[in-house]
Amino acid sequence: MARLLQGKVLAISLKNRLKEAVSRQVQETGSRPILACIQVGQDKAQRLYLKQQEKTAAEIDVGFRLIDLEEDVDPDELKLVIDGLNQDPHVHGIILQQPLPRRLSSHGFEGCLNPLKDVEGVHPENLGLLFKGNERFKPCTAMAVLELLELAECGFEGKEAVVVGHSAIVGKPVSLMLLNRLATTTVCHIATSDRGLLSEHVKRAELLIVAVGKPGLIAGSWIRPGAVVVDVGVNVSKDGRVCGDVEFETARERASLITPVPGGVGPLTVAMLMKNLIEAFNLQREVNEL
Ligand code: NAD
Repeated sequence: MARLLQGKVLAISLKNRLKEAVSRQVQETGSRPILACIQVGQDKAQRLYLKQQEKTAAEIDVGFRLIDLEEDVDPDELKLVIDGLNQDPHVHGIILQQPLPRRLSSHGFEGCLNPLKDVEGVHPENLGLLFKGNERFKPCTAMAVLELLELAECGFEGKEAVVVGHSAIVGKPVSLMLLNRLATTTVCHIATSDRGLLSEHVKRAELLIVAVGKPGLIAGSWIRPGAVVVDVGVNVSKDGRVCGDVEFETARERASLITPVPGGVGPLTVAMLMKNLIEAFNLQREVNEL
């Protein structure tokens, strides 16, 4: 029976460490990291994520600034807001809440962020560094996945890693991070399933990461005995329960470690955002001192 990889527990100890780091920064520099979040419109799921960010910021004593823009904001005005935050020496991290309204989504606003303030790791420069194996800021959910795998102490080098899902925000960055750590990495997606090959790949995985958004996609009987399983999916099952993409009970019989949903990857994601904010604060000070 697999042990649980509990992001919820890890997030508590990580936040305690981050709070100490902030307190040291305040003592040494006289200022504290400030996170600015730009929200366009009133999307409910985004509001929920914002609340989590605000709460976590308060828990670790960093500043939080919300910039609320109307749904019909002009693209030039949004660009001006981003520029203002880029220039503001009191702001160390910027989040542009996603998804943006469709009319704005093709403008490439991620590229307008100061890459040293890009705490969600979405600027092309940060993605390029990840691609080159010279990691700086990375997407927070992908960081949370790697943090859990590191906690599992299963090692990466030469391991058979299978990632199911290839989104820009989870699957691809996770795959690159595994590749950078010399795991033998296979990426599966919808076309893998369409060809009926998903189970074949999953059965080989010593490290299995699933980020799709389909409850029960991964049958427990596919899990390689002893595998470490990280389930990123967040779904609501037919009976109204929150669940992941992996059949938890049967997978747990075969895996050595497995994340629960909820309580696995989710709680760590915002903690990773704060970790990036603290790093951004230090990096900006180093650059300013040059
Ligand atoms: P997405 O919709 O952008 O991408 C889904 C991926 O799954 C794509 O690569 C697609 O090809 C693949 N896919 C779809 N159907 C498939 C199938 N039948 N077989 C194999 N692959 C299939 O999704 P996303 O934004 O990466 O999110 C994935 C899941 O992770 C969602 O449930 C989301 O709610 C969750 N999520 C959780 C967190 C967190 O912090 N816990 C953060 C982000 C996303």
